[in-house]
Amino acid sequence: MIRVNTKNIERLKASKNAVILAHNYQRPEVQDIADFVGDSLELSQKATKTDADILVFCGVDFMAETASILNPNKKVLIPDLGAICPMAQQLETEDLLVAKRKYPNAETVLYINTLAEDKAHADCICTSANAAQIVNSMDSDLILFGPDNNLAHYVRQRTNKEIISIPEYGLCPTHHQITVADLMEAREKHPDAKLVVHPECIPEIQEAADHIASTSGMVKHCKSSAGKEFLIGTEVGMLHRLEKEIPGKKFYPLSEYSVCPHMKMHTLEKVERALETEEPEITVRKGVADKARKAIERMLELSR
Ligand code: SF4
Repeated sequence: MIRVNTKNIERLKASKNAVILAHNYQRPEVQDIADFVGDSLELSQKATKTDADILVFCGVDFMAETASILNPNKKVLIPDLGAICPMAQQLETEDLLVAKRKYPNAETVLYINTLAEDKAHADCICTSANAAQIVNSMDSDLILFGPDNNLAHYVRQRTNKEIISIPEYGLCPTHHQITVADLMEAREKHPDAKLVVHPECIPEIQEAADHIASTSGMVKHCKSSAGKEFLIGTEVGMLHRLEKEIPGKKFYPLSEYSVCPHMKMHTLEKVERALETEEPEITVRKGVADKARKAIERMLELSR
């Protein structure tokens, strides 16, 4: 096993005026070395506020792209280029354009889990923390929404607008594989635990939940809830942040197999190497970035 001297990471960060941003699903040791840990919305807001010259983004491709779009003058590094989001890959740009032509009066709201090329065709971006709020603040009553069909289900329960899913069956493999059987087994083991789940879970799991929230919403909810034990229905990396920030309560994974292999690709060794070599860098073509930025900034404006 390669041992990483975290002091060297700190030294490189200071000498290069770099910060490390890590998603809640990162490995515990990567979360612990990060300057900021959060969900997609928190990380994109943070990315607009830092005066660092280099952002080391420990998340998947679309997150690093978003950071680059919001910070065209900063260098955005991703420790492992293989960290892609399979859900973002499920949206074909051509399918989106066909739907936009078919429904000319619809507005397009895309989940932040999309590639920049697709964001460039959206009227507004959303995250799981603000999806219903964003859809409800659109002018049109007809919304093209993608790519997550489970998140679309969550939004449909909270809006009177008509939602058309693009693609029809987009999903996050990590959340979609949590089953009702997992829920029954977990409830048997932890009968007093409250069920808190992410809206990327299947509708049956959402409907059984005591609370549905983005990962940042989970932290807020579990802090303020009177409950002492929680079953957490999302990627297992989230438990590290919950246990660290809320030490007096107990957290159990709804399914211990909810692991996103792409999120786990970043290691301390790769973070150190990225800081040393200032590679791999994520860049987005200017024309695409300018259009995508408008849709992301509209979301940030509506989420204030
Ligand atoms: S957890 Fe799901 S949505 Fe998040 S990066 Fe992994 S595959 Fe994509």
